[in-house]
Amino acid sequence: MSAIKIEGIVINSYDYRDYDKVIKVFSKEFGILSFYAPGVNKESSKNKYSIQTYSLSEFEIFKSRGANRVSKLKTGNLKKEYFGLAKNYTNYIYISVITSIFEQLLSSEEKSPIIYKAFKIVLENISNSIDVFKNYVIFLLFFIQNTNYKFNLEKCSRCKKSNYEIVRFEFSDKTLICKKCLWPGEKIQPETFVNIFTNFNRHTFHYLIEKKYEIHDLVVLHNFLLDYYENELGIYISASKILKQNASTYLSEENINKYK
Ligand SMILES: [Zn+2]
Repeated sequence: MSAIKIEGIVINSYDYRDYDKVIKVFSKEFGILSFYAPGVNKESSKNKYSIQTYSLSEFEIFKSRGANRVSKLKTGNLKKEYFGLAKNYTNYIYISVITSIFEQLLSSEEKSPIIYKAFKIVLENISNSIDVFKNYVIFLLFFIQNTNYKFNLEKCSRCKKSNYEIVRFEFSDKTLICKKCLWPGEKIQPETFVNIFTNFNRHTFHYLIEKKYEIHDLVVLHNFLLDYYENELGIYISASKILKQNASTYLSEENINKYK
């Protein structure tokens, strides 16, 4: 069996025996992939830098065929380290939320090039402390819109028309509502907030992340998305409570009401 080259970001690792590890990467070529890395816990290992969590590396692996056989690392070359993540606790937490979502929602060896590419942008930006909260929140929605968990954001869910003015994102069923279809008591939400959803599927991640957003819109979106991941997709997010509270310190009761 000959070795193949892959590019990947280390998202987790587990010690195995005295000197070995099992490494989990999000790879460009195969999506989530685990491999056995013999000897990487030895001081003399040439591969030890490439397998640090959140490193972007090139790996040469002996790829297994069949689900119950394990791939094995031959060589690993570190391409990029994201030092900025270790320096800032919040940045680190954001990335760990994203990677725990990968671990729990992406199937092994299912190629996800769009998500991979977006994740590299997020790592770069968060590590450099550029628009950290925006990168993190927009990625949480981008991930959903590029998987089977996708919300239908193409038209009003009640009249099924796309030409009427959309004025509301209905949290309970994750759909858009136009002005004509509002039920009594339902509010017109801030336009900037509704616009996040109406144009979302038409754009690349690069475009979405360059756009400007209102901080209140991002906070509301964030807290809604964490609830969705936890309560409906069953994801365990250990820092969830702290994240929601921190984000909400930006919001007054009056502001929260605008989105209800
Ligand atoms: Zn309608």
